[in-house]
Parts: sequence; structure tokens; C-alpha cells
Amino acid sequence: MRTPTSVGVFRIHSGLDYHANAMDMSRTDSIHMDPEEFRKHGHAMIDFIAEYLGREPKRPVRSEVEPGFVRSRLPEHPPEAGEPFESVMKDVREIIMPGITHWQSPDFFAYFPANNSEPSILGELLSAGLGVQGMLWSTSPACTELETHVLDWLVRMKGLPERYLSSGSGGGVIQDTASSATLCALIAARERTDSFESGSSGVNQADSSMITYCSSQAHSSVEKAVRIAGLGTDNLRIIDVDGDYAMDVEHLKRVIKDDIDAGRRPCMVVAVSGTTSSNAFDPIDRIATLCREHGIWLHVDAAMSGTAMLCPEHRHLFDGVEHADSYCFNPHKWMFTNFDCNCFWVADRSDLVKSLSILPEYLRNSATESGRVIDYRDWQIPLGRRFRALKLWFVIRHYGVNGLQELVRGHIDLTAEFARWIEEDDRFQLAAPAPLNLVCFRHVEGDEFNERLLEKLNHEGEMYLSHTRLDDRYTLRMSIGQSRVERSNVERAWSNIRRVASDPGDT
Ligand code: PLP
Repeated sequence: MRTPTSVGVFRIHSGLDYHANAMDMSRTDSIHMDPEEFRKHGHAMIDFIAEYLGREPKRPVRSEVEPGFVRSRLPEHPPEAGEPFESVMKDVREIIMPGITHWQSPDFFAYFPANNSEPSILGELLSAGLGVQGMLWSTSPACTELETHVLDWLVRMKGLPERYLSSGSGGGVIQDTASSATLCALIAARERTDSFESGSSGVNQADSSMITYCSSQAHSSVEKAVRIAGLGTDNLRIIDVDGDYAMDVEHLKRVIKDDIDAGRRPCMVVAVSGTTSSNAFDPIDRIATLCREHGIWLHVDAAMSGTAMLCPEHRHLFDGVEHADSYCFNPHKWMFTNFDCNCFWVADRSDLVKSLSILPEYLRNSATESGRVIDYRDWQIPLGRRFRALKLWFVIRHYGVNGLQELVRGHIDLTAEFARWIEEDDRFQLAAPAPLNLVCFRHVEGDEFNERLLEKLNHEGEMYLSHTRLDDRYTLRMSIGQSRVERSNVERAWSNIRRVASDPGDT
């Protein structure tokens, strides 16, 4: 058994080749995992992941364990003495894996894609290995500069407006999630609304008359942001949607007018490009015109669907984004980059930085004082930050723009084909337009039938679908965006859906 004694010391000889320091060679059983052991387990771990991501189907796609399955197999107390890594991995196989829902399976069609890729995993591994904190430029210059650079690349890759570039008034930052991006946008909007009105330099003045607007189909993170920002959920206006579940701009216009007439202060509108339930696109162009007229911050949430902007032929769905004050999308959904990675841009960084910047003595440094660097701690809620740009950089460099476009187009083509199959079968109907990689549909037999259909399909374990409610009707959602999904997976899914629809069983 290994005993904790003095900690091994290592020095760099060349490149990444680490050797134990001669001063400390008397013992090789350091409390740490030594480099040889790390290599051995590291290679085995890569083998494990490579096999996991390989072609062998993972069944059931949705974990079928009962609540408490995992915990009942874990010891009540942590080990007093360290254990061999092999026994940890044995438990991973026997206890953890049965409780895993296989989000990376090409037969996973539920919720939204959270697709990863080998280059992204390697970037994540390197980030963990380097273990830097990128809160300030000076705490690891490469962490900040790569992030700024990759976000500038993405502005060009997606045809976003020039003012989102770091060389202009704005710039991009990686947040953990779209929820955080929306919160940051709201805090910046609150800042701007406040200084518009009062000319005040006092930041973060929550005001009970500041109003936020989003459609009934916007993500729940908007309400969460309003709560956290202290604006009050009574001051969140839920705007109606049209027949395609996109924001009704005439309704938005009336509600804004009522608020202004009543002396309230419109603060931010969140337009969604690709709603969670049905992938509807709010008309950004028309919303932007209203926002400009009344000095309202426009935030565009393109969490999943923003990846489609990589393909010029789909950018029309985002018309008007060039007028938005902020925009975000999640490479951790559909751009082959493992969670967490949200890219968030602002057209003018001053309100964001003003509202989130606090400089205690212990963070003071000459680079910050020179004004020549970005300190991303001022662009987000937490102080600490991981080196997330690495995985994004690896993904972009591995696939190239062409490779990413090819994969995204492949998903969109498969989705169109699946939607066609639905339309051609009298037993099924489309529940909403399917412009990109999500098909909302239902069996004509009604809610209870569709619920049984879904449960039986998922319980069989060959595939995983999820649901939503549209117009208060139970609706099945087929989301096609896994890294390794092929036509054969979608064909098999459709054949399973039709087979189970012939006999969905009892609840
Ligand atoms: N916005 C939209 C439109 C979404 O679909 C989602 C997730 O499903 C979110 C925001 C929340 O994403 P995150 O988990 O990155 O906060």
C-alpha cells in the first residue's frame, strides 16, 4: 500500500518529458500517481473512451436503472487509504456505466445534441493537464489570447457582424452555458438602461420598473436570469407566438407601448433563434427595429441552432442578428465540442465590463493597468475560468470550416428526410416546421397514445426520443445531431417508431 510521505518533485528536461528529480529518487511510491503510472492509466483511459465512442451499439440508450442504483453500490464512507486506479475503473465499468444515458450514441435523438468529438476530448484533456486559471490575462496569457482569437474566427465563420470582433467595440467570450450568457446580457442591459435614464455611474441598480421581454417559447433560463438579476418575475413579459411558434412582433409592440405609457423602462428583449421545444425562429429583424426605436437591448439566444450559421444557406433564419446587442450559441450542443462551451458576443463591451468588473488589490497587475489586455473575469459571473478555448480550437482545426459544414449539412438533410417520411405516413403528422435538425411530430391517436409510444420506444432501449407540449398537445421530438449519426440510424429509428405505433402496449 502506498503511504503518504514526501511529495515527489519533478522538473522538465525537454518538451513534455518529465523525470523524477534526482534529489527525490529515494522513493518511487509518491503519494501522487507517478508519471509512468499516469501514462499507463492515461493510455488505458483513452482506449476506454475510444472503445466507448466506437461502432459497437450502446444499449439501452437511455439508462434504465432505478433511482438509488448507483448510490446503493457505493461505500458509505470514502476510503481512508488510497486505492489502486484499477479498482476505481472496475467500479466505473460495473457501477457507473449502467447509470449512463448514452448521449454520444448515434441512436440518441432526445432533447438536443450534446455532441462531442475526439479533438474536443483531447483539448479538454490538455486543459485539465495544464490546469491554468484564466481569470486575468496575466494569469495565463495564452488562455485569454486563444479565446479572443477563436471567437474572432467564429465571427467570420458564422458571418456575424464585424462589431462583434475584439478589434472593434465588442468581442466574444466563452461562458459555461447559454443560461450564463443570458444572465450576463441582462446585467449589461440593466446597466445600460440605468445609465440611459439617470446618467448614473452607479452600477447594478436593480429597479423594479425594468422590463424584460421574451416569447412563451423562450428557454426558462430567461426567467431565471430575471430572478437572479433582481428585476422581479412580475417584470418579465411573456409575448405570444404565431402559428409557427415564433414571437408575435405586433404583440411585443403593444406590450412595450403599454409599459412605456405606464412609466416603466423596457430593458431587454430576448429573441430566440431555434426555440427549445420546436426550433422556431423569432423574427430578429423586426424585433431589432422595435428595440432600436426604444433603446432596448436585444439579446439573441441561438443555443443549439446557432451552429447552422456555419452554412451560408441557413443564415437567412438569423436575418437581423447584425443589429443585436448580444448573441450566443453553444458549440457544446451541435458543434462537436464537449460541454461546457457557450460562445457569447457583445457589440459593445463597455456595459458588460462596467457591470461585472471589480478589482481587488490581490488581482492588481501591470498588464491590467496598461489597458492593453482583456481580463475575462470582467465578462462573466465567476472569477475563475478554465481553458475552454483549447477544445474549440482543436475542433475547428481538426475539421476545418468545410468539415464542420459537411457534418451540419448531413444532419439537416437527414432531418428533412425524416420529416418527409412523417408527412407521407397517414398515421403521423408534423407538429411544427422543421427548418434544421429537429422534427416535432405526433401520432394522430392523441396524447395518451403518443405517451405510450414514447415510453415503449425508450424502454426497448434501441433509441431515445423525448417530448414536449405544443398547443397543449403531447408532441414527440426527434433531434438529429449526434457526431456519428448516419442514415441507417435514422432509418432504424423510423422503422422502430412505426413498429411500436402498431402496438404501443399499456401504460
Ligand atoms: N436556450 C435555448 C434556446 C436552449 O434550447 C437551451 C437548452 O436547451 C438553453 C438556452 C440552455 O442552455 P444551457 O444549458 O447552455 O444553459
